Amino acid sequence: MIGIGPGDIEYLSLKAYKLLQQVEVVVGYTTYIELIDELLSPDQQIISTGMGGEKERAEKAIARAAGGQSVAVISSGDPGIYGMAGLILEILKRRKEKKSAADSIEVEIVPGITASTASAAALGAPLMHDHAVISLSDLLTPWDKIKKRIKAAASSDMITALYNPRSSQRTEQIKIARDIFLDHCSPETPAGIVRSARRGEDEEVVITCLKNMLDHRIDMLSTVIIGNSSTYVDEGMMLAEDGAMITPRGYEL
Ligand code: SAH
Repeated sequence: MIGIGPGDIEYLSLKAYKLLQQVEVVVGYTTYIELIDELLSPDQQIISTGMGGEKERAEKAIARAAGGQSVAVISSGDPGIYGMAGLILEILKRRKEKKSAADSIEVEIVPGITASTASAAALGAPLMHDHAVISLSDLLTPWDKIKKRIKAAASSDMITALYNPRSSQRTEQIKIARDIFLDHCSPETPAGIVRSARRGEDEEVVITCLKNMLDHRIDMLSTVIIGNSSTYVDEGMMLAEDGAMITPRGYEL
């Protein structure tokens, strides 16, 4: 399982870079295969599937590995953060219980730069203090549970990174999440929206506040970072167009 980072191959680890060139088979979501396309050679077999094909990809990868091939399953960011690593380990555990050939598969997990840290770097230094990462996707997690976690983060003054904030079908969750934050935090709390972080020219960075965050484009390519009560915007630091978002660690200056 290989994390390919946020998109631009410059942000790939050297380990991931080497392994991607060595393996016989590369399995991944079509968009992610395209992101690393220039590293791959015609000798390698590519198995790509569309969005939502996670189980199918995992099964195919395991079948190839069980047949003796070296296989890289790629995830964007880090494979262990809403990626493929957990699913594959779970399937392997099941197979082991059934004593199938997958017993002999050797597994390695190569971490990658996840969307929260890639987005934080584009915004400044918003994650300098304790923070929570919450996915707003309720496809695999009940929405009530997600809301509880949002409340817990908002009420404990955690900086919060929201993954999967909004899709064409899921448009309400981000509004509800914002309202929960407003119940606990100042409307002026800085909020950053980063779209396609570290994907070259495609990167878009907006620094706004809780009150106004819904006025900006938020979609499945975006990560939203909501600050804590100490987070502020340095408008003079032109890291992003709107300045830089900073959460003090607490040093005396
Ligand atoms: N394994 C991935 C996360 C997959 S969930 C990781 O560790 O980053 C998919 C969500 O991640 C997207 O909806 C978006 O919220 C976020 N994401 C992934 N890549 C991103 C990028 N380059 N810029 C901003 N957000 C990104």
